[in-house]
Amino acid sequence: MNIHEYQGKAILKSYGVSIQEGIVAETPEQAVEAAKELQKQTGTGWWVVKAQIHAGGRGKGKIVGTEQRGVALAKNLDDVYNISKALLGNVLVTIQTGEAGKQVNKIYVAQDVYYPGESEPKEYYMSVLLDRAQGRNTIIYSTEGGMNIEDVAHNTPELIFKEEIDPATGLQAFQARKIAFNLGVTGEAFKQMVKFITSLYNAYDGIDSAMFEINPVLKTSDNKIIAVDAKVSLDENALYRHADYAALRDISEEDPTEVEAGEHNLNYVKLDGNVGCMVNGAGLAMATMDIIKLSGGEPANFLDVGGTANAARVEQAFRIILKDKNVKAILVNIFGGIVRCDRVAQGIVDAYNNIGEINIPIIVRLQGTNAVEAKKIIDESGLKVHSAIQLAEAAAKVKEVLA
Ligand code: GDP
Ligand code: MN
Repeated sequence: MNIHEYQGKAILKSYGVSIQEGIVAETPEQAVEAAKELQKQTGTGWWVVKAQIHAGGRGKGKIVGTEQRGVALAKNLDDVYNISKALLGNVLVTIQTGEAGKQVNKIYVAQDVYYPGESEPKEYYMSVLLDRAQGRNTIIYSTEGGMNIEDVAHNTPELIFKEEIDPATGLQAFQARKIAFNLGVTGEAFKQMVKFITSLYNAYDGIDSAMFEINPVLKTSDNKIIAVDAKVSLDENALYRHADYAALRDISEEDPTEVEAGEHNLNYVKLDGNVGCMVNGAGLAMATMDIIKLSGGEPANFLDVGGTANAARVEQAFRIILKDKNVKAILVNIFGGIVRCDRVAQGIVDAYNNIGEINIPIIVRLQGTNAVEAKKIIDESGLKVHSAIQLAEAAAKVKEVLA
């Protein structure tokens, strides 16, 4: 589960990670109040106004139809007001949002931390994530922080370092020092960096995070080390251990159909293709998506109805697939192990009748317990449903109806 920058920073701060301080706002007036409050708290005279959406690349992204960037410097309270007004309620397109962009509903007014001083501010990159191949949490870091980390990874991968954490010991002090050393910081900044890394890792571990990406980590002109950005994602499988994090969820950032599917305990992920699929079991769902591609279609979704493919769930699944207007055909592929195919077939017939006018072809492949009886139910239903027992047959029918 992804959360907003302002939420992620509040969590980091609670673990002792130094952050660029800010206050969230939903109107330009609130933004101005937030800016005044920050001036009192931190002494800052300039601010940055940052769009809060679940996507990165905001600094380079633009509000549709304007030159307004998603992260902008404000040198006075009028700037704060005007930038906030230009962002709020409008759609921001960044390299990570896709063409449709995302509506900005909240902004984060933050202190300016790139102030001049004894040294130049310097940006670093740091993320913490699980390296699944190694089965270990890993800190990835680079001296080349800032907005172009994707280019750095592509063009100069040797500038990106990795530190694996042994799960038995956790992050060890020498590892934090090694990272700080490799980043080339010295003196007070070295001490600050070690503390930053240690508390960052504690936070990652403590909240059951799935990923942290702090880009940039900033060394300020007076040698403080702070998180300027915070992309924090929580491990959904561990959310039961953090009841209070449920409130951090922002449903407006999620696909509405996926949210609805989740409420019915259906495992649904929307994709861009034209063939809807309904399958029991994640592995079979993946294989079915491959078959759809092989027959010249593109899967419109991943949908695992789960082990209990009963009539009610089948109907709900149909309703969800049919919300996607790109769907030109639906392939149902159910393996009857514990579920009986004839019951599923009856469920499909009932769902078809309950939903009413379904104007797209449905191809049903049922295999396993009572598959023959199931095919008979479909064939005798008089509905525009094609039945198949062999997957190859079903694939051929998909091809036929798409032609
Ligand atoms: P992202 O583009 O979505 O990754 O958003 P970031 O929070 O990383 O901000 C983008 C860029 O804005 C940073 O890389 C900085 O260059 C710039 N920025 C962020 N905070 C400040 C600030 O306090 N002062 C100034 N001058 N620039 C900032
Ligand atoms: Mn960033």
